[in-house]
Order: sequence, then structure tokens, then C-alpha cells
Amino acid sequence: MKIAIPPVEIPPNGRPHPPAEDVLIDNFGRRITYLRLSVTDRCNLRCVYCMPEQGVPFLSREQILSFEEMERILRLLAGMGVNKVRITGGEPFVRKGLMDFLRRVHAIEGVQAIHITTNGVLTAPHVPELKRLGVKSINLSIDTLDRERFFQMTRRDELERVLACFHTILAHDIPLKINMVLMEGQNAEDIIPMSRLSRDYPVEVRYIEEMPFNGADGGRRKLFWNHKRILETLRNEYPGLYPLESEANSTSMNFRVPGHKGDLGIIAGFSRTFCGSCNRIRVTARGTLQTCLYGEGVLDLKSLLRGGATDEEIKNMFRQCTGQRFKDGWEAEKQRSQPFDVSQSMALIGG
Ligand code: SAM
Ligand code: SF4
Repeated sequence: MKIAIPPVEIPPNGRPHPPAEDVLIDNFGRRITYLRLSVTDRCNLRCVYCMPEQGVPFLSREQILSFEEMERILRLLAGMGVNKVRITGGEPFVRKGLMDFLRRVHAIEGVQAIHITTNGVLTAPHVPELKRLGVKSINLSIDTLDRERFFQMTRRDELERVLACFHTILAHDIPLKINMVLMEGQNAEDIIPMSRLSRDYPVEVRYIEEMPFNGADGGRRKLFWNHKRILETLRNEYPGLYPLESEANSTSMNFRVPGHKGDLGIIAGFSRTFCGSCNRIRVTARGTLQTCLYGEGVLDLKSLLRGGATDEEIKNMFRQCTGQRFKDGWEAEKQRSQPFDVSQSMALIGG
């Protein structure tokens, strides 16, 4: 099969960044430009789709990457064309020193866009600084606007603080997306009330299919709220709903309701409709490189860094690993040595 190599962008100063031979392109011709970085596996909520009530066996400080190690990884990847980074977790804001780290990430040459995914419990006081750092967007997880159901789903009574964070982000004019994971028997009745956030505010509400990463039994094998059912429910409520053109590499199918200030999105994370254009890699809190959400770690970056590998050696490993990517999440799942029944929590992988 002939692989089409995407062109390397030449910035206005005429100097391509990075040199063509350094650009990360996978074995299917997909250029890797996006890193999802899980900065901690710890969290102050216990969402039922992400971890059991008692939490997961959290890693010790030694077992997770230090911020210096993450910075080095990011610097190397930025030199290979990764220009977008999403800071996630666990809950990123429970890790001490996060804001210092973000300031350093902001200064890395080649990193053009920092995005953050957060549950919003501790985030509000940092929003002004996030704005100053030019954070491109924040994804805020809210599964319901009902206090009782919020408690049932997250096992913590924090809806008020999360909504305060929602308003603080809006007040600072940072593009805001709301992530809602749909679970039958938990928050299905919130589909339409949540959509009204996009009626009243310039936000994108994204309905996410539940994926098998709950840190316990892997979750439901059969998905009730798949993307088709979600869309049907929205169409019934909003007959005028129409699809929007999605950005290249987007994981969400996007829609608009005439008269709404924001948009609606559906992320078929279980059905995996978006793998064909996947441009992302992940570094887990444990310091493992994952080239597919549904696969297993392909490189123990932490040992490599701590074993004294040179920059060039690490870059070579990035090239090797991205040169052996799976076509899609289905193929990656088939190759797993362990089934999802003993799956990790999404908090470790970062979503
Ligand atoms: N703690 C932050 C938060 O909740 O936004 C960031 C980490 S969380 C793992 C990242 C995203 O993954 C959240 O939007 C969360 O809703 C989503 N998520 C977690 N477990 C999931 C699952 N089993 N299926 C689908 N999405 C999941
Ligand atoms: Fe924590 Fe986010 Fe997982 Fe919820 S989804 S338990 S907020 S890491």
C-alpha cells in the first residue's frame, strides 16, 4: 500500500518546524500531532464509570512521572511535530505544582495549544492564570445538573463547586466543552436538560459513550446509549438539529440547534467511529506510551528516562512505536494480552 505523507507546514519565517525527517508519521500515514498527558492517577471524585468507590490502587510518587520527566517528553515530542497537548488525569488539579508545570509547558517551542480536561472541583481559582497562559480550551466533566444524581454518579457532593467553575471559565472567555458520560439507569434523563446548557451558553455539550475503563469489571459489554440512540433522542427533542462539518481528526460528531448559543456533540468512544484519522498518542500517569486508547502500553518511557537514555534514543523509540500503530481500536483490543475485565481505570490513561 502506498502511504500518502502529509506535507510539512512551513511557518512564515521559512524554517520548517520540525525538520521533515523528525516528523512523527504512523504506518498508516497519519501524522501524530496531539499528546494526551495524564499527570496523575489520583482524583477527588469517584465517577462510577471510571473507578470503584474505594478508588483504584493509586501509584506512589516514585511510580509516576515527575514534572521534569514530563517536560522532557513533551519537549522531544514537540520537536517531532506534536503541537497540541491535553493535560488530563486523574484530576490534574489535585497534583501539587501543576500550575508551575503549565507555565513551563507554555514556554516549550513547538507547543501551540494547551488544552485541559478537569472535573472542575478545584479548578476555578486557577482560571485567570489559565487564561493568561493562553489555554485554548477546557473540557469540564458534568454528567448531570441534578445534585442527587451528581452525588450518585461521582460519589461526592460537589456539583455546586463544579457549576461555579463552569461560570468562572465562561466569564474568562475560555472555550468550554462539557463532557457527559451516558449511563443507562444513572443519567439518561439528563440528556435534554444538559442540552439546554448549549441553548443558554456558548458551550459545546458532548455526550460520550461509556467505554470499558471503570477500573473494576471493565464496564458493560453491551452499550445501551450508543451514538445512534443518543442522536435519535436529540432529534426527537430538536427536529431542526443539523450536523456541522467536523474538524479534521475530531472525535466528536457535531450538531447545532437553530437558536442555541452553543453546539452539541456525540463522542462514539465505544463504537470507535473516529479511529481512521487518529492523530493522538497518550502518556499515562505511570509513564507508559500508548498509541491507542484500546491497546496496552507500547513503551515504558519512565524506565527509559530513568535509565539514562539520550534524547536521540528516546526519539528513535517514538519513531519505532508510532511506526507500528494499530489500524483502529478494534484491532488494538484484539491484541491485548489482558481482557478489559481486568481493565485499568480511565484515570490512569487520561481519557
Ligand atoms: N478528572 C478529569 C475529568 O473527569 O474531566 C480528567 C480525567 S477523566 C479520566 C477524562 C475524561 O474521561 C472525562 O471527561 C471523563 O468523563 C471521561 N471518562 C472517564 N471514564 C470513562 C469511561 N469509562 N467511558 C467514557 N468516558 C470516560
Ligand atoms: Fe476522577 Fe475524572 Fe475519573 Fe471522574 S472521570 S473519577 S473526575 S478521573
